[in-house]
Amino acid sequence: MSGTNSVSRSACNSKCSMIVVSNRLPFILRRNEKTGELERKASAGGLVTAVAPVVIRGNGIWVGWPGIHLDDPNEKIPESDPNDKAPTAGLLSKKIVPIHAEPKLFDSYYNGCCNGTFWPLFHSMPDRATFIADHWKAYIKINQEFAEKTVHALHLLKESNEKNGSPPIVWVHDYHLMLAANWIRQRAEEDDINCKLAFFLHIPFPPWDIFRLFPWSDEILQGILGCDMVGFHITDYCLNFIDCCQRNLGCRVDRKNLLVELGGRTICVRPLPIGVPYDRFVQLAQNAKPVLSTSQKVILGVDRLDYTKGLVHRLKAFERLLQKYPEHIEKVVLLQISVPSRTDVKEYQDLKEEMDQLVGRINGRFTTPNWSPIRYIYGCIGQDELAAFYRDAAVALVTPLRDGMNLVAKEFVACQINNPPGVLIVSPFAEGRVCVW
Ligand code: UDP
Repeated sequence: MSGTNSVSRSACNSKCSMIVVSNRLPFILRRNEKTGELERKASAGGLVTAVAPVVIRGNGIWVGWPGIHLDDPNEKIPESDPNDKAPTAGLLSKKIVPIHAEPKLFDSYYNGCCNGTFWPLFHSMPDRATFIADHWKAYIKINQEFAEKTVHALHLLKESNEKNGSPPIVWVHDYHLMLAANWIRQRAEEDDINCKLAFFLHIPFPPWDIFRLFPWSDEILQGILGCDMVGFHITDYCLNFIDCCQRNLGCRVDRKNLLVELGGRTICVRPLPIGVPYDRFVQLAQNAKPVLSTSQKVILGVDRLDYTKGLVHRLKAFERLLQKYPEHIEKVVLLQISVPSRTDVKEYQDLKEEMDQLVGRINGRFTTPNWSPIRYIYGCIGQDELAAFYRDAAVALVTPLRDGMNLVAKEFVACQINNPPGVLIVSPFAEGRVCVW
């Protein structure tokens, strides 16, 4: 994700400080094998690019897991390298509150509950979801830990007394942290700290008949409703959420104005579609050197290797095209970039295996001495180079089985500076179309 939305834009203009709470810190910590010292490694992504400048400018704080389990939880987080050009370069170590968790518990929370349950369920793939009480218990514990550390961050802000204006905004992110808000609110009230709480979900919010399958669905809704404002990518997800609040919890709701009432509080629900830095991609497309040297028409796919992205279906559809319309043989090539994702999870390892075999089978079936139908890159490409792929491809396929806001679709459109432009094919299950045009 490399986007921004109106929460970050309006926070940019406001006078208050922001505490961002997300599963991962906006960089990864790793240990230098030679010196044994901790180092920061930049991590790309929408949340980081969009939100880090806002946090830095407002003297805010970021709460999250550093990407490594440290033996000594008091080990100091290093400052960024002086040559660091990442958006997080100005984020001082005193403005970072890291989460420490026992590795097994963290695994049960992250791989078990977040990726094993919420990821498939919220993408409306309940047959892939597991419902395991121990994973849920781990999720509760880790959310409590995040809440605890966020209250600590609120104290730090209060002590630094750098901003006397409006109360700070605590902005909690994504499906990893749906329970944290109420604990933050209660503890902040006990400690006489005033703050506003917001939540943004970076994946779809499913319809009620899917959501209610989760055995502890009431707790999830109550957790999210601990915030003052709740954001989703699109209005459909807002309405799904409101529907669940009414049907599960019996809340009074206002669908027209997107409001939910619970315990005497009114919670605002808002569609906040995440976007891309459009001008940056236009510029990248203008400056990128050509990387595709072929006379054939290139059909491009750019995806994380995730079962929600419909990659197996895409390859099979391309095979069908070549079979039904052989006039395209030696005329088109499918260039698929698959970014490794959750590589320690069996389901993702199986998907990689299936893709490798499918690419081999289709190439074996159609390849001629001077042409192969599929070029397959298993790896991550820098966005400078990606812009050249977007610009020079004839067609881009964005065909997930279910997706939230898809940024590849928007980046592809931004890079269409040639005449005629390339064609974007978007599945009805991707939300990239909402604000591309
Ligand atoms: N991306 C990248 N290098 C690659 C492939 C993808 O930098 O090799 C970036 C791409 O530019 C986009 C993001 O990864 O910003 C993918 O976002 P999207 O919303 O399409 O999918 P997600 O991975 O968030 O589900």
